[in-house]
Amino acid sequence: MSGEAILLLVIKASYLVAATLFLLGLQRMASPRTARSGIQWAGVGMVLATLVTFFIPGLQNIALMLVAVALGTVLAWVSGKKVAITDMPQMVALYNGLGGGSAAAIGAVELLRWTSAGQAPGVVVPVLALLGALIGSVALSGSIIAWAKLDGRMDKRYSFPGMQLFNAAVFLAALVLGGLLLRSLGVPLVVAFFVAALALGVLMTLPIGGADMPVVISLYNALTGLAVAFEGYVLGNEALIIAGTMVGAAGMLLTRLMAKAMNRSIGSVLFSSFGATGEAAEITGSQKPIDAADVAAMMAYAERVVIVPGYGMAVAQAQHKIWELSQRLIERGVKVRFAIHPVAGRMPGHMNVLLAEAGVPYDLIVDMDDINPEFRNTDVSLVIGANDVVNPVAKTDPASPIYGMPILDVVESKNTIVIKRGKGRGFAGIENALFYADNTRMLYGDGAEVANALVGELKALDGGH
Ligand code: NDP
Repeated sequence: MSGEAILLLVIKASYLVAATLFLLGLQRMASPRTARSGIQWAGVGMVLATLVTFFIPGLQNIALMLVAVALGTVLAWVSGKKVAITDMPQMVALYNGLGGGSAAAIGAVELLRWTSAGQAPGVVVPVLALLGALIGSVALSGSIIAWAKLDGRMDKRYSFPGMQLFNAAVFLAALVLGGLLLRSLGVPLVVAFFVAALALGVLMTLPIGGADMPVVISLYNALTGLAVAFEGYVLGNEALIIAGTMVGAAGMLLTRLMAKAMNRSIGSVLFSSFGATGEAAEITGSQKPIDAADVAAMMAYAERVVIVPGYGMAVAQAQHKIWELSQRLIERGVKVRFAIHPVAGRMPGHMNVLLAEAGVPYDLIVDMDDINPEFRNTDVSLVIGANDVVNPVAKTDPASPIYGMPILDVVESKNTIVIKRGKGRGFAGIENALFYADNTRMLYGDGAEVANALVGELKALDGGH
């Protein structure tokens, strides 16, 4: 066997090792206990795959590749260090989009290379290159719009009359251009194809708002995986094929789970705006404030308390204080549970991660379907920084943009306390009927400060211990 053949064998074997590390890493991410090491395993796999790529015989533009790797490493390191935990979802959306963009870039380079050579290699490879480029471009531009919405940089929902038809026409145009490229290659055609594909991602994402964003982000994540797998085939790179297929499959499963949790089909997320577009019903009544001492007494003498965390708890980083508060209640004999809505916060599993970080035992954390029947027997529900996921209009007002979204039935509890800073709205940007309900009291303030005050009041009730 020649030296070059041995080198190739080592490279292919390393790709297989890298892919195995991705797989084991993904498996470890299934539990919060092992998730951290899962990320590290996958990271080692990524470093290995990147390193051995430099040894592929006949590789060109090594200096350019090194510059790209160095730039990417510095940018990711700095942004990863700097990002606030609450801005993580935007960053994930952006990084994910860049993955799709990279796959699309591979497709573009190959198409241009075949154009200057005057011919493409058969049919299967160009078809996969085009599919990867289309899907990757949609994931890139769509994720950028998702990032802008999550980051509060643009309106949550934007549409115009006939938009679905227009989008269908753009999709068709991209397909036709792709078909033409299979028959005869040309730079203007390649450019037009990418313009249509990128426009499609933007147009598809612009009208999606309300509370559908989680489904969309995970769908783009799955599309990125698929695009990477297709381009991996084009390059004959096993690591890309395996990693892409894994991301695609895991992303698709997550998308289905998220859509199911939101009571939506993926089609209706993409092709119809959330809920109806009519005027939402007006909410009557007033928000009734309460102070920390009264809330502490109420909880101290309650039999059952359910804590409902949401995005505001993440902003305030109040999870540690909330757990301290819960421990005090548990010591007094109160039955405390944490209720988790599948899309509370800004990323899947957001609340589970925060509660695990604070040390809340898993058996106190209950999912939406299991806790909902319990609310009517709950003496006090303590909502901290949750808004959309507890909004009863999702069940009562067909004109509401979140109509049909499953919610935590906090409104059925005997007493509800809501901790939030003021009259700020949730992600869907709508009024919340729970805050005006007869048995709801508002405890205004930053989540961490209020939780701290509650701990202080409970301590005082316990005689300062
Ligand atoms: P929401 O975004 O609906 O509401 C958060 C509330 O927290 C606000 O009303 C705000 O009110 C309050 N808040 C903000 N900062 C603080 C603070 N420091 N202390 C106390 N309160 C604070 O949160 P939910 O978790 O209920 O709902 C999540 C929403 O995000 C859903 O619509 C979901 O679809 C969407 N989404 C979820 C994703 C996911 O994967 N989980 C991804 C993308 C979107 P105030 O300003 O008055 O304090």
